[in-house]
Amino acid sequence: MSTDLRELSTMLPSWLEASRRISAQGAVASYIPELQHAPSDALGIAIYSLEGHTLEAGDCSHSFTMQSISKVFTLLLALIDRGEQAVFDKVGMEPTGDDFNSMLKLELVEPGKPFNPLINAGAIVISSLIAGQTPAEKAERILAFIRRLAGDSSIAVNESVCRSESRTANRNRSLAYFLKDNEVLDDDVEPTLEVYFRHCSIEVNCRHIARMATVLANDGRDPQTGRELVPRRYVQIAKSFMITCGMYNESGEFSIRVGIPAKSGVSGGILALVPGQLGIGIVGPALNGKGNSIAGVHLLKQLSERYDWSIF
Ligand code: GLU
Repeated sequence: MSTDLRELSTMLPSWLEASRRISAQGAVASYIPELQHAPSDALGIAIYSLEGHTLEAGDCSHSFTMQSISKVFTLLLALIDRGEQAVFDKVGMEPTGDDFNSMLKLELVEPGKPFNPLINAGAIVISSLIAGQTPAEKAERILAFIRRLAGDSSIAVNESVCRSESRTANRNRSLAYFLKDNEVLDDDVEPTLEVYFRHCSIEVNCRHIARMATVLANDGRDPQTGRELVPRRYVQIAKSFMITCGMYNESGEFSIRVGIPAKSGVSGGILALVPGQLGIGIVGPALNGKGNSIAGVHLLKQLSERYDWSIF
């Protein structure tokens, strides 16, 4: 069933305001100190159809850093740069059921390979697989890729968030040293983390996220020009990971209640897509106990129920 965009555009502002009230039950992430300044009651959504309709409501201009949403795009770029085999030599294909920054399984399994590219350990390994002679070159290539998919060449790294994360990243450093010791990470720890912190700190708004999501909803083709930006096979891989581990340890419940590929980040962003129909970008910095935007998940659930978005 295709979505009734006329009704959706009329109703979206009031649905958004109803979800915004749920924000009071969540909390803004503070383990990266710079993130705690985000307004906890902000909520914005942009929904772009593949035919070019644009629907927006709430705080669409509110900018935020991509954080874990960027991991979908570093995965895609690593697949483009190295191919499927080289990527899956280094990271697995399974959800963990553990926290996104957990070290647990790295010691329990041989050869200590991260379970998937969307947890921190996996994404750190993926950062090292991006082509480039230096960390700066790798980070620039990721930024250029995201700019191309979002259709905005002014997108940049938020340097204060990047510094803030680097200063407080004891856990990510431990993960990276562990990976290095297990010989899963070939590059050195600090240059790899520099790439990782920079892509997590890329600053966007939910319009950018919606635009990037339309490319994935359109199997890797720019919906405006029809040009292939990402091979369809790689989009298929990314969407599979989004379903199985895109929403942290809420991925199973999200698949049952919402049923569309999505990826969230600790700054409250969610990228979601209805395949063949819509790209969606959401920001709502107050997070639920699982680390997802509490109001964003609430809003997506209402919309998916109303318009029968589940792919299952
Ligand atoms: N940069 C964040 C970290 O490594 C990303 C976490 C996230 O959004 O899940 O902790």
